[in-house]
Amino acid sequence: MELFFPERVFFEPISLNYPLGQKLFHFFETKNVEIIKAPIQKVLHFIPGETENQKYSHAKKTLVITTKKALNLDICKPSADYRFSLVTNCPGNCEYCYLQTTQSSKPYIKIYVNIEDIFNTIIKYIYKNNNNITTFEVASSGDPLAVEHFTGSLAKTIEFFGKLENGRLRVSTKFNNIDSLLNIEHNGHTRFRFSINSKYVIDTFEHNTANFYERIEAAAKVLNVGYPLGFIVAPIMVYDNWKEQYKELFENLAQKLNPGNIKDIKDAVTFELIQHRFTTVAKNVINKRFPNNRLDMDESKRAQKWGMYGRYKYIYPPEISNEIKEYISMLIKNYFPDSIIEYYT
Ligand code: SF4
Repeated sequence: MELFFPERVFFEPISLNYPLGQKLFHFFETKNVEIIKAPIQKVLHFIPGETENQKYSHAKKTLVITTKKALNLDICKPSADYRFSLVTNCPGNCEYCYLQTTQSSKPYIKIYVNIEDIFNTIIKYIYKNNNNITTFEVASSGDPLAVEHFTGSLAKTIEFFGKLENGRLRVSTKFNNIDSLLNIEHNGHTRFRFSINSKYVIDTFEHNTANFYERIEAAAKVLNVGYPLGFIVAPIMVYDNWKEQYKELFENLAQKLNPGNIKDIKDAVTFELIQHRFTTVAKNVINKRFPNNRLDMDESKRAQKWGMYGRYKYIYPPEISNEIKEYISMLIKNYFPDSIIEYYT
């Protein structure tokens, strides 16, 4: 896919005190892009658009170069012990994305330049965990790979984790901008998980992200250079033909990755399975942003589950949820017999 390039880049003045802030400033000042230097509270003021949807669309093309102020890390179950961010948001436009609600008022892409502070925080959290192996998710509030061609931050982070005896990094992505990460010292301490789905879900709902084939291609590349590999199958949706299409997904994956060659358990491919869910707040935002969306968000056909953000979410009722779990697990065991299913939720 074509690499993302912004319409405007906003520099919070403090960001220019950091090497990455300066590198980004020198890069963008030679490019045909609007550059703004102002306090971060003014960002929205500089984003054009008459309607909320126009503003949203311009915000998705706005980079905000800033520092990460709050350096305490949240727990990130079930995917890791903790999560941290190099970026917040991404230039993708997935209609169901949960950031539609959590980042609704500020959908611009924030890049954090104080990465040494972030690394020091990670060391502290490993120490707090009695120096046991501690896992960190880097992509729960945005997709760092989408802007890696500007920042190089993910490469630095992978190398940092490569040297940590007890730190393990988990990256998840819907992008394929992977080449700059193939020849670095990862030491097997970073697990790349590609977010994948049926072709219908990717083509219909995941705009401005790498397509089905590009993601599989990128996954094969990281596997070839020895990164631990995984897939997040999410959000799993039930629609006409869903079984056939998810079968096609695993057929394609197996063809490209040749799982028969992956024998060592430490190299086992992992799968994380997440069914589609939504909250009432998300439904309202999504219906405003994507008025003609084809997402199935009929509460009367769903079951309620209490969510960690203090809201009910709507998931599939137990009989459909169990059918999803059994069917997708069966496909995984057929096509990737030595793989590990980490969780289904
Ligand atoms: Fe959200 Fe990920 Fe899609 Fe970006 S790629 S819009 S973070 S789901």
